[in-house]
Amino acid sequence: MRKKIYRTICSIVTAVVILSVLMMFGVYCNRIYKIARSDLKLQTETIAMYMGTDSDKEVAELAFLGSSDDLRITLITPEGEVLFDNMASPEEMENHLERPEIISAIETGSGESRRRSETIESEIYYYALRLENGNILRAARRMDSTVILALQAVPFMLAAIVLVIIAAMFIAERLTVNIMRPINEIDLDNPDYSVMYEELRPLFDRITEKNREMELAERIRREFSANVSHELRTPLTAISGYAQMIENGMVRPDDIQEFGHRIASESDRLILLINDIIRLSRLDESDGIDTAQRVNLSEIVRGTISRLEPLATKRGIHIFYSGEDAYINGNPTMIQELAGNIIDNAIKYNKDKGEVRVFSGMNGSGVELSVKDTGIGIPEEDLDRIFERFYRVDKSHSKTVGGTGLGLSIVKHAAICHGATISVKSTLGIGTQITVVFKPYHEPSIESEEKKENEEAE
Ligand code: ADP
Repeated sequence: MRKKIYRTICSIVTAVVILSVLMMFGVYCNRIYKIARSDLKLQTETIAMYMGTDSDKEVAELAFLGSSDDLRITLITPEGEVLFDNMASPEEMENHLERPEIISAIETGSGESRRRSETIESEIYYYALRLENGNILRAARRMDSTVILALQAVPFMLAAIVLVIIAAMFIAERLTVNIMRPINEIDLDNPDYSVMYEELRPLFDRITEKNREMELAERIRREFSANVSHELRTPLTAISGYAQMIENGMVRPDDIQEFGHRIASESDRLILLINDIIRLSRLDESDGIDTAQRVNLSEIVRGTISRLEPLATKRGIHIFYSGEDAYINGNPTMIQELAGNIIDNAIKYNKDKGEVRVFSGMNGSGVELSVKDTGIGIPEEDLDRIFERFYRVDKSHSKTVGGTGLGLSIVKHAAICHGATISVKSTLGIGTQITVVFKPYHEPSIESEEKKENEEAE
């Protein structure tokens, strides 16, 4: 960035300097040319003032002026015949009536023109003046002398360009350092907005936001690791304790079976926990739905109900299903886990002989899954927290019904991945209703298909 700013300033200054010097040179050349023109006019008019009235006297006067390398004087009759020329012999010169400056001088009293003379191979400026007797006095000057004059200024101009560019490089260096200093001095963890460029605020707002998100994610990760260790330690301590008691002969032979049962159920709990943790970390790894496809939500919901039905029947709970086929863009495994956890909770936290009402299908513009139970309900103050990892309203109750505190976090994660919204309504002692609304299935657009193919190709 530093180099870029430096290079940009240097190239802008160089371009501006070169352009302005060229423009100045143009103005300067033009000025010199104008001065040369008005000089020639003045000289012609001065000579004309000393001219006699008859041609012979005029020729004599002019001959008196003598020849000059620079200034060419010609005297021409109104018929175009050359009477005198200080650089050539008048007899050898052709009729001059066709020359534009002569035509104009005969008609208006004076005339001028600029053209290339083959005789002296140079650009010549002519000025012609009609004398009182009708003869034309013409003066001419080589214009290359003005160009030479102008070119004399070139070394000074080049020196000025080099000096200005060196100065510009020095200033650019200082400027770059000054521009970069406030940026380099910004503390990314704690940016001070009062000394920051206004233009950088949106960027630093985003960085601050990202920092906060990262800190939060890091905190959640740390809490999660601590919770995982704690959750795993509890059943393992119990298993180890029971096993040691048996090993040390502290358990009566009659109780061995009971202890075996306790060890088995604590192990089951461990397996349940580990499975949920694995599921959740798999979800954490994927940022979105990797393999989205057309999924019939209702088919998955009906499959989940038949899988969980035996669990419900054991406690005399009845599951009612209503709805119709409805399609979403989704990942079938994630949707199975989402539906499974919500319906499983509706059974686990239900009363014996209770009811679970499941609906899946279109509702307005969305595809809805709603699960309503007649269970124990959730206290108002816990409603916001039940989606947190390892959060359980009643720890011991959750444990007895085989809960890990991770089910609803898996549900929330899957819903976020699918861009779905979740809402919970619950009345303590009456029941709970959890509703998830998905966006309906839409054909992937050609553009997004191409994007996907490109990404795959990369
Ligand atoms: P768990 O594995 O303990 O069921 P979840 O994350 O699935 O964990 O749920 C978190 C907590 O929310 C549960 O421990 C329970 O207290 C409460 N909960 C979830 N679903 C229901 C429900 N349908 N009825 C009553 N309480 C519920």
